[in-house]
Amino acid sequence: MLAAISPAAAERVPIVEAAGRVLAEDIAVARDLPPFAASAMDGWAVQAADTPGRLRIIGESAAGRGFAGAVKAGQAVRIFTGASLPARSDAVVMQEDAQSGDVWVTVPQTAPGRHVRPAGGDLKAGEILLRQGMRLDAWRISLAAAAGRAEAEVRARPRVAILSTGDELVQAPAPPKPHQIYESNAPALAVMAEGWGARAIRIGPLPDELEAVAGAMRRADAELLVTIGGASVGDYDLVRQAAGSLGLVMSVESIDMRPGKPTFFGTFADGRRLLGLPGNPASAFICAELFLKPILYAWQGADPAVVMSLARTQAPLAGNGPREHWMRAALGQANGTSTVRPFADQDSFSIRVFAAADALIRRPANAPPAAVGDPVEVLALARA
Ligand code: AMP
Ligand code: MG
Repeated sequence: MLAAISPAAAERVPIVEAAGRVLAEDIAVARDLPPFAASAMDGWAVQAADTPGRLRIIGESAAGRGFAGAVKAGQAVRIFTGASLPARSDAVVMQEDAQSGDVWVTVPQTAPGRHVRPAGGDLKAGEILLRQGMRLDAWRISLAAAAGRAEAEVRARPRVAILSTGDELVQAPAPPKPHQIYESNAPALAVMAEGWGARAIRIGPLPDELEAVAGAMRRADAELLVTIGGASVGDYDLVRQAAGSLGLVMSVESIDMRPGKPTFFGTFADGRRLLGLPGNPASAFICAELFLKPILYAWQGADPAVVMSLARTQAPLAGNGPREHWMRAALGQANGTSTVRPFADQDSFSIRVFAAADALIRRPANAPPAAVGDPVEVLALARA
């Protein structure tokens, strides 16, 4: 799937609108931070060599203003946090450690550099802290702002259409007919896709009719189509056929895992891609984590790697068969180590189970049985 994806074009956006977007440029720091030696405290700027002692107050240096003169022997300048250190002073005495009147201040001994933030101590001009491929979050946006940027070059957001299929599906508030259930996958997948940087639209629920599904695919104004359901081998599983009738060139026909076997992927002649997901909620969500997320990351020039970690299982796990198995589970902590509890019910139709999961356990093909306390591979799921 990733072989069919290359990064989208770049666009400039205000940094405050860039949360979740992926940088298309390196951002260099424009100016040292702080640009001058600055006070880390409210107090008194002094020459350390002059302390302890009784010093004459000659003025003040406030944040954003500074003090025009220099501090000579026997003198002190009132200073505030973030204000620049006056010429020839080399230390700040905390306000709480000094006794001051209108004319004199008595300070204890201090050393050069005390409570002083050196120029360039945090950021150095020209330094590159934000690089292409990084997804921006609040802290990185703060870094971009501190680097002197109002805007940043980021990758365009892929446009994704989520198409749900199935005669049994109805979307609230429409009333369900006797043999129907509420459609519940598309809202989740749209939210996931948006969280992974895409702009998502929902189409459907579509009936299990070839013409209807093919027509919706043809009209879908998106770069990536994500279908839900109808991907398997049942009589009413028409999604592959519909995509085929529009000339989809399939590059992935199915996946050797459970749940999620019917997942497929291909490209239309007009360049649109299609990811076909199974309809069972757990299958759809797991395959979204494992395939849709990396596709959207790669689309935006970010690292698509699925990052696994280890945790100790709190329940024994049976040996696995020849197909990789992804299990719904809950993370925990015991004695300072990560633990994971697989749910007894792994039915891929169950929404209840998935709603309680904050992790997936990956059981490789033919994995031997695991005992309580054995380390297993887990994929943490982002939950609110
Ligand atoms: P399918 O892959 O179309 O055979 O669907 C498998 C199961 O998932 C069926 O029980 C469907 O009713 C259910 N399902 C399919 N799509 C959705 C959806 N969008 N929302 C909720 N359930 C669905
Ligand atoms: Mg169906």
